[in-house]
Amino acid sequence: MAYRITLIPGDGTGPELVTAARRVLEATGVAFEWDVQEAGADVMGKYGTPLPEQVLASIRANKVALKGPITTPIGTGFRSVNVGLRLALDLYANVRRARTLKGIPVCHEGVDLVVVRENTECLYAGIEHDVIPNVAAESIRIITRQASERIVRFAFDYARANGRRKVTAVHKANILKATDGLYLRVAQEVAAHYPDIEFNDRIVDNMAMQLVQRPYEYDILVCPNLFGDILSDLCSGLVGGLGVAPGANFGHDIAVFEPVHGSAPKYAGTDRANPLAAILTAAMMLEHTGAPAAAQRIERAVDECLAAEECTADVGGRLGTAATGDAVARRVARV
Ligand code: NAD
Repeated sequence: MAYRITLIPGDGTGPELVTAARRVLEATGVAFEWDVQEAGADVMGKYGTPLPEQVLASIRANKVALKGPITTPIGTGFRSVNVGLRLALDLYANVRRARTLKGIPVCHEGVDLVVVRENTECLYAGIEHDVIPNVAAESIRIITRQASERIVRFAFDYARANGRRKVTAVHKANILKATDGLYLRVAQEVAAHYPDIEFNDRIVDNMAMQLVQRPYEYDILVCPNLFGDILSDLCSGLVGGLGVAPGANFGHDIAVFEPVHGSAPKYAGTDRANPLAAILTAAMMLEHTGAPAAAQRIERAVDECLAAEECTADVGGRLGTAATGDAVARRVARV
């Protein structure tokens, strides 16, 4: 039976990267039925919204989506489609992985981090307004017991399910005593139910410094939305950059898989963007859909390509986007 998957190419470099990931997925021999859906700035004219209802309906029906990045206008314009999609489908947990990949020169070996980012509240609730236009503006940061509890539980359950040893709660409870004070208390309460998993907490600024100096001491970081967004980019920088950082958003029974990076508009149409983040994201999707052996084949093929320098310039190779995707697909098909 074929897996029916919603496929959202996105914009900017998204379509080239998603095409490469799709080619690799198809090389595994697993059968897919693709339900292609368009979202983003390019469909505004056609549908009057960057996130048409049929995109949400498709994901609700199929339960799994593979998504390319979508551009968000900076400072003005429509609200982020990415945030809108996560809120509309209550995709409350954003999981972003950063692990050392052979063949990419880095400062620290042995990095294997998972950032679990709360995806529905904090400053991303988008509750903001001008107090006095052009003079002062206000944004409201919401942290609730309910959302904090479910994200920390998710992090501990993920740790158990994936054989991980430690969860670190990241916060700024020394300054944000009400919001992050609540988040930290809830994290400590939840941690008490998981005595088999080590737990500690770090203030976010110290966390950033420690990740740069001793990233191998950490395992799973569970963060409110904004800190998770920033630290997950930092973590990808530790292992070779955004070109190799996969991610996924999980809700109750829906999952949307997307790389950590954005639409990298300066690379759009140039065949220069690295497709490995999208390809590793596709591997995460296979793990989720119940094809872990195929996921491992993809990860092995990525390692082999990096070792053979069959990759894009950002990670030391000379290939373009499409050729890198083809190189991974060939190795996947060979295994
Ligand atoms: P970005 O991730 O698109 O790019 C930042 C830098 O990272 C690029 O200049 C490039 O040097 C590098 N990079 C990113 N992807 C790469 C790849 N595949 N291969 C090689 N290098 C890569 O972030 P940005 O420039 O801040 O954002 C661009 C747009 O993307 C914005 O509109 C932003 O809102 C949007 N965005 C979307 C998502 C998403 O769809 N989930 C996530 C982040 C940003």
